[in-house]
Amino acid sequence: MDLVLEIADTYVLDAVYTKFVPLTLPEAAGLNATVSAIAMSAWPRSHIPRQIISLSIITLLGIHALYFLFASASYYLIFNHEMMLHPRFLPKQVQLEIRTSLEAFPVMTLLTLPWFLAEVRGWSKVYSSVDDHWGGWWYLFASIPFYLLFTDYCIYWIHRWLHHPLLYKPLHKPHHKWIIPTPFASHAFHPVDGYLQSVPYHLFIFLFPMHQYVYLGLFVAVNFWSIFIHDSDMITGHALENVINGPAHHTLHHLYFTVNYGQYFTWADRAGNSYRHPDATLDPLLEVKMRERGEKEKTKAD
Ligand SMILES: [Zn+2]
Ligand SMILES: [Zn+2]
Repeated sequence: MDLVLEIADTYVLDAVYTKFVPLTLPEAAGLNATVSAIAMSAWPRSHIPRQIISLSIITLLGIHALYFLFASASYYLIFNHEMMLHPRFLPKQVQLEIRTSLEAFPVMTLLTLPWFLAEVRGWSKVYSSVDDHWGGWWYLFASIPFYLLFTDYCIYWIHRWLHHPLLYKPLHKPHHKWIIPTPFASHAFHPVDGYLQSVPYHLFIFLFPMHQYVYLGLFVAVNFWSIFIHDSDMITGHALENVINGPAHHTLHHLYFTVNYGQYFTWADRAGNSYRHPDATLDPLLEVKMRERGEKEKTKAD
């Protein structure tokens, strides 16, 4: 986030703060005039209230952009619209999913702010030059699978705890309203649920060093992945199906609740005895096809 804030400051926010919170020199203040010629803000980049406002705006804009860009792309390009004929697909479900997401974003942003603020104030282990960390490029590449394994395992347990009866009803049930989710369900959570499942991403850089570009790239990629696994696709039989927790696995999670809690890999579910293999016979599309066939036969008989 420090990288994003730096870019935003350079190209937009320095000018905005200079305009709205200009620096007033003491002698100029005496004359009750603002010295605009100096073109500086009374709030420098390191000013905490400025950072809080900037980060809130950037996070809100960023999450809306990521959500609508990736979810729309996935909805129009990957999601099988026949799935909407499934008996458990709710009336006006897409609108409901979008509304739930939009209602969650402001609260999620607020809860995430302390992490982003701590990061831009330099308390994380994010570094900017490859040579700043031992191992150079080797460490940089190794940190990618490590990040995925770490966050996957943490999210597995957070997600599993969210299915505990005490937490399920108040926090996680809103996400399980979608038995047949569309990509727009990817962020349709109770805000505290969505936040809790994102904590490992933020925590990682306070525990382990990571290059700032890698971190930013992965942050966007994991958002994309969350959207991708919600396309209710049960296409099975691909080579990595036993290892990668993909859309087919997450479709089963929405159908059967207590299986496939993982985010990227199947290992945590296998170790935790919650794995269910996505067999083609479990595809919810089969029920749609069966109903269609039944209806056709009924019309024929009539
Ligand atoms: Zn889900
Ligand atoms: Zn769940």
